[in-house]
Amino acid sequence: MKPELYDVVIVGAGPAGCTCAYQLANKGLKIALIEKDEFPRDKICGDALSPDVINQLRRMNPELLEEFLEQVEKVPAHGIRFVAPNHKFLDIKFSDPDQNRTAGFIATRVVFDAFMYNQVKDKAGIDTFQKHEVSDVSHTEDGVFVKTDKSLFRGKMVVGADGAHSRVKKHLSQNKVEKNHHCAGLRQYYENVSGFKESHIELHFYKDLLPGYFWVFPMANNRANVGLGMLSKEIVKHNINLREKLADIIEHHPLIKERFKDAKPMETVKGFGLPLGSKKRSCSGDRYLLLGDAASLIDPFSGEGIGNAIRSGRIAADHIQSAFKEQRFDAKFNMRYDKELYGKMWNELRLSRILQNTLKYPAISNFFVNKARKNQSIQLLMTSMLDNNIDIKKELLKPSFFYKLIFQ
Ligand SMILES: Cc1cc2nc3c(=O)[nH]c(=O)nc-3n(C[C@H](O)[C@H](O)[C@H](O)COP(=O)(O)OP(=O)(O)OC[C@H]3O[C@@H](n4cnc5c(N)ncnc54)[C@H](O)[C@@H]3O)c2cc1C
Repeated sequence: MKPELYDVVIVGAGPAGCTCAYQLANKGLKIALIEKDEFPRDKICGDALSPDVINQLRRMNPELLEEFLEQVEKVPAHGIRFVAPNHKFLDIKFSDPDQNRTAGFIATRVVFDAFMYNQVKDKAGIDTFQKHEVSDVSHTEDGVFVKTDKSLFRGKMVVGADGAHSRVKKHLSQNKVEKNHHCAGLRQYYENVSGFKESHIELHFYKDLLPGYFWVFPMANNRANVGLGMLSKEIVKHNINLREKLADIIEHHPLIKERFKDAKPMETVKGFGLPLGSKKRSCSGDRYLLLGDAASLIDPFSGEGIGNAIRSGRIAADHIQSAFKEQRFDAKFNMRYDKELYGKMWNELRLSRILQNTLKYPAISNFFVNKARKNQSIQLLMTSMLDNNIDIKKELLKPSFFYKLIFQ
């Protein structure tokens, strides 16, 4: 088979791959964006777009954000409700126009990912190939080969933006699934769930799920995204059947069962993995970069990965332009991508890992929520944390934060 020739072959047109392609459009490079599905397509997710995602869209292009705000069907999320194991809750606001704080949103991945894909599909320099499933990736001294069920592509670099089960990662990197840094997640859409605090997403940290949680997110048209995520290590250790656990919460949990009494599931339960960014990994090598879930960049505390997928797409696009300028595609040069990536993300990922490890103890979770309910400075810090404000996250790591938590 004669290969089709490109400068960069991007595998996967989710948020990471589309962002990378978007940032590389009109830059004089010939890009192939390869996707196994066809848009609009579903992706198992909680569908929560945190304020960080909105900020990332703005950074890509303020007009892109405007289009998102105008065109994408969504409901606003002005805050988040944390429910502690003792059933007390804490409401944290993330939007406040007076303080210039952005709201988050809930939009299905069917619409959000199609929106992202539509932004790149007609851009100059980008050829898109839907319904092309990549089966093999290899490299030689002078190029990479990407094989799909229909064609063969040759490029100078390949970008692995193909999600949690990345083929690019499998064929080119040594990274493996590590159960202590990986979550299993379930999602089921419902209609007619009651009892929401308006425009708030809910994370329920019940005792036997820690450090994971059950979620209920309100959606348009009286629907809800309902799900459960748990650390894979804990699932194996305690031999947990996650689907049974989800059904058990919905049917029997005292805080939940009444809210579901008239609710109807709209689909069967669906599951997918979440590779967590709680450990630094190699995200590049000779002629390749890994992005988003393929690079394991999901926040280990919140389970959010869309913001970091977009961020990695932006960082990768900048790196690729330097690589072409200097004609360097080797592993040593590509290490600069890892450095930049973790330089931007490691503080927040590390803090989230600390939170994940600390709040896995029910007593500490209860104590934290009890204290934070009464303490405005902690609430403000939490708000800024959800905005992904790195300076505030550093603040959270300081002893003064723990002083405020314990003594105020
Ligand atoms: C249950 C669950 C709930 C979640 N909830 C949230 C949430 O509420 N908010 C949030 O921010 N994050 C959430 N996440 C995480 C979020 O879904 C991911 O972090 C995000 O989708 C990563 O984007 P990505 O572009 O790296 O990968 P993906 O979105 O997975 O995109 C990868 C793309 O590559 C394509 N692809 C895969 N293999 C191939 C192949 N062989 N050939 C060609 N194409 C291929 C796929 O079809 C897909 O389009 C959740 C994850 C799960 C599993």
